[in-house]
Amino acid sequence: MSQLKIRLYGDPCLRQKCDTVTDVGSAERMLIQSMIQTMHAHKGIGLAAPQVGINRRILVIDINDGQGPLAMINPTIVKTNRYADMEEGCLSIPNVHIVVERPYEIIVRYTNADNKEEEKRFTELMARAVQHEMDHLDGKLIVDYASDEELDKYRDKLEEIKKQAKNN
Ligand SMILES: [Zn+2]
Repeated sequence: MSQLKIRLYGDPCLRQKCDTVTDVGSAERMLIQSMIQTMHAHKGIGLAAPQVGINRRILVIDINDGQGPLAMINPTIVKTNRYADMEEGCLSIPNVHIVVERPYEIIVRYTNADNKEEEKRFTELMARAVQHEMDHLDGKLIVDYASDEELDKYRDKLEEIKKQAKNN
C-alpha cells in the first residue's frame, strides 16, 4: 500500500475513457487500498483511478459519514431522481469550484472489492460524489460544466494548473 501521485488538470490521462475491469483480484484490492490512502491524505471525499494515472473503471468514496470508504468497480447508474445544483471541487483541479447540476438521488450497480455485484441507492452528497467520480471514468471533468463566468473567473488558475501538470 502506498500513496499515489495525483494527476492534475491538463494531464491527458484525465481525458481518456477508462477500460472495464474484468476481474477483481489482489492487484485491484491493493490499488483500491492505495487509492483510499491517497484520497484520505489529500482530504478528498472521492478519487477515481484515472486521477492516479490508471485508466480502469475503479473509484473510491468516503464522505466522512462514518460508513467508511467504499470502492466501486465498473459502476453504472440504473436510476436517477430529482436534480440539484451544488458547488464541486476536484483533487485534480485544486482551488477551482464549479456549480454542477446532477441528480439528487441515484441507484448504482457496481462490483465491490470482494468481486460481488451490488446495487445501492444514494442521495445528496454521496450521490454527488459517486457521479463526480463516475464522470472521471469517462474523461469528464467539472470544468466541462462550467459557465462562461466561471471559466473567466478561473482562466488564470486553470492555466497555472496545466503548467503544474506538465512538470508533475
Ligand atoms: Zn474529481
